[in-house]
Amino acid sequence: MLYKVGDIEVWRILEIHEPFLTPEELYPTAGPDVAAIVESYAPGSVCRQSGRMILPIQGFLLKTPYHNILVDSCVGNGKTVPGMPDWHKRSGTRFQSSLKAAGVNFEDIDYVLCTHLHTDHVGWNTQLVDGRWVPTFPNAHYLIPSADEKVHRLGNGDMYLESILPVVEAGQVELVQAGHMLGDHVTLIPTPGHTPGHVSILVGDANCEAVITGDALHSTVQCCYPDWHFKYDSDAEMAVSSRIQLLERVSEAGCIVLGSHFALPSIGRVTREGEAFRWNE
Ligand SMILES: [Zn+2]
Repeated sequence: MLYKVGDIEVWRILEIHEPFLTPEELYPTAGPDVAAIVESYAPGSVCRQSGRMILPIQGFLLKTPYHNILVDSCVGNGKTVPGMPDWHKRSGTRFQSSLKAAGVNFEDIDYVLCTHLHTDHVGWNTQLVDGRWVPTFPNAHYLIPSADEKVHRLGNGDMYLESILPVVEAGQVELVQAGHMLGDHVTLIPTPGHTPGHVSILVGDANCEAVITGDALHSTVQCCYPDWHFKYDSDAEMAVSSRIQLLERVSEAGCIVLGSHFALPSIGRVTREGEAFRWNE
């Protein structure tokens, strides 16, 4: 177990921990020293051989007294992602063993909560069985931000066809908006910008005990430089303002922050530092 919020257990479900893209590619507005800055704030997060940032691809499992909730389902196996060779048609076992280590089988998941609809957050929504994509979690309700679903339904690309549509057709999708609550202790909070419907996840009561960032931030260095644009933010300026609001909220509350792509162990707290913020493990 990674952490406990009241009687909710938080488990890391890690699928991939490998170099992704270079800091220069990921943060195009950050200037020529970006790699050195990233390395000084998050030591060891830039791969020495490749110069690429090492990003974990992980979900978080919340085991409440009533439900097993999976927040984000990683890249998945067999998915069509030609633009990302490391994610294309994978056949890994780490995701499944992480769930097993948490004492949970596919059929035990009650809710799958997608912070947004990108390839590395929805992959295990489905698996290939006898040549057909079917929901991996047969008993789960899948909560999906409606603004993202609309964009991808219209786009009708591989990610939608392989990882979303089969779940819609199985009648297991509930389209949700920020503000949606799952029981008394899990709330979707709005952090649009990375995608139109992006949400972060607040775990605990109104005192805000823990937050799962999703892709509102990708590295702890963005606590210090929240205004850096990120390559895959669909509306970069909106993402900056969501990031700053989220950092204000978690620093004022002093709550635990679980950064979906933060360097492992991806857990810490944020404090105010002048105009920006500081990450504390
Ligand atoms: Zn992501």
